[in-house]
Amino acid sequence: MKRLGMLRERLIGALGTDGVKTEPEDLSVYAFDAYTDGGRPLAVVLPRSTNEVSAVVKIAREFGEPIVARGAGTGLCGGAVPAAGGIVISTMRMNRILELDAANRRARVEPGLINLDLSRRVAADGLFFAPDPSSQQISTIGGNIATNAGGPHCLSYGTTVNHVLGLEVVDETGEVFTTSIDDSGYDLTAALVGSEGTLGIVTSAWVRLLAQPEAVRVWVAAFDQMEAASEAVSAIVAAGIVPTALEMMDSVIVTAVEAAFHAGYPTGAAAVLLVESAGFEEDVAAAESAIRAIVNQHGARYMRGARTAAERAALWAGRKGAAGATGRIAPNYYTQDVCVPRSKLPTALRAVAAAAAEHAITVGNVFHAGDGNLHPLLMYDRRDRRQVAAVVLTGNAILESAIELGGTISGEHGIGWEKRDAMTRVYTTADLAAMGRVRDVFDPRRRLNPEKIFPSGARCSEVTPP
Ligand SMILES: Cc1cc2nc3c(=O)[nH]c(=O)nc-3n(C[C@H](O)[C@H](O)[C@H](O)COP(=O)(O)OP(=O)(O)OC[C@H]3O[C@@H](n4cnc5c(N)ncnc54)[C@H](O)[C@@H]3O)c2cc1C
Repeated sequence: MKRLGMLRERLIGALGTDGVKTEPEDLSVYAFDAYTDGGRPLAVVLPRSTNEVSAVVKIAREFGEPIVARGAGTGLCGGAVPAAGGIVISTMRMNRILELDAANRRARVEPGLINLDLSRRVAADGLFFAPDPSSQQISTIGGNIATNAGGPHCLSYGTTVNHVLGLEVVDETGEVFTTSIDDSGYDLTAALVGSEGTLGIVTSAWVRLLAQPEAVRVWVAAFDQMEAASEAVSAIVAAGIVPTALEMMDSVIVTAVEAAFHAGYPTGAAAVLLVESAGFEEDVAAAESAIRAIVNQHGARYMRGARTAAERAALWAGRKGAAGATGRIAPNYYTQDVCVPRSKLPTALRAVAAAAAEHAITVGNVFHAGDGNLHPLLMYDRRDRRQVAAVVLTGNAILESAIELGGTISGEHGIGWEKRDAMTRVYTTADLAAMGRVRDVFDPRRRLNPEKIFPSGARCSEVTPP
């Protein structure tokens, strides 16, 4: 208690009273992210600057406490919650655009800036930030960088790593270093993107901005079978057409979304494809004809386009609100996140349905079909222990089937706490040891977000360098 009091005093000395939380009711807010499991920190700090982050890391080091960086806490793999005690650094007060260089289409931003706020604030300059996770109304640029977030538009624009030009980072000793894609030698920017807060704390980032396209069209195609819709997805990409987004929803999701948002999706279809194309007017028109021909060949009931910007926005609002809409079906949902080769989508979807049926769990599928990135939403009631156990088993079965199909254990949400033991299913001891050595260069004491990404228990020895 005395030690906690001293720690609290030191943190308040560095950040002021309003920047430090240690009351149990405050800490409980930071005990969870969007995953089902959590862990309460010892203290939460809300710095306003890089210097304050640096001061907190130095104090934590002195007290031997681990650090967990946290953006909006929308992560789906338990990445932003402490494994045991420690200090959570919330970036929510570091939310400014520090520099906007519209001529060179780039901006330097603080990590707590909300993803959608960036695009909104540069819209007047005809620019936008391309990575658009469905959580973009609340997730932060720092969290997006740390998870290498994807999103519907990453099919053509690439994930966050393709849009980060340089970083300012506080290391585990509290010192500040910067990286740039212009650096010679190792590409440390790329190494830090997707490192889930285990290599350093991002305190600002230069990000790439893109020019808004001349034309944008969104279409909805309805199918009587998921299989036919999946095959249409493969055929579109095989034909060399790369829509800016190619998303799929099943009837469970469409029904929930329509009830919640009246987004304009056809109910009664087994699968709905949401397709977007953007670029020059004539390219978009050509894409429409080609896509229409392909979906028709695959037995689509119909394909129709949004006629106005408002209709287009409603279709996207429905898609991005899909997870929330499942609140109409069950009080809780668990999102699995696996990737399979696109051609394996029909098999993977059958495996999802079989696993959910075996464990009597309602499943809804809403996912980035163009990337082969599945997001089965498993619906349950957290208060019912049978359902919690069944959800875990269903999620594991889906993970195993994705691995068997040659897929990955995370499409975009990261590994965090949730999937660290699954790392041994896809990486060899040598692979994990190589990753562990990289980690040890940045954080030899393993104080930055410990017990994440790397396998637990006895398996830890596999990643400890000699
Ligand atoms: C409804 C819903 C839809 C989603 N859709 C998508 C989607 O389409 N695509 C997608 O990729 N993800 C999606 N996600 C997952 C999540 O939103 C993303 O992973 C997002 O990037 C997390 O951002 P955050 O600010 O909430 O980060 P947090 O959850 O707070 O943290 C995530 C990880 O980043 C680390 N971190 C945070 N800030 C920093 C920092 N400044 N420096 C170093 N490390 C840091 C944390 O320690 C943690 O490991 C979705 C989540 C929800 C709830």
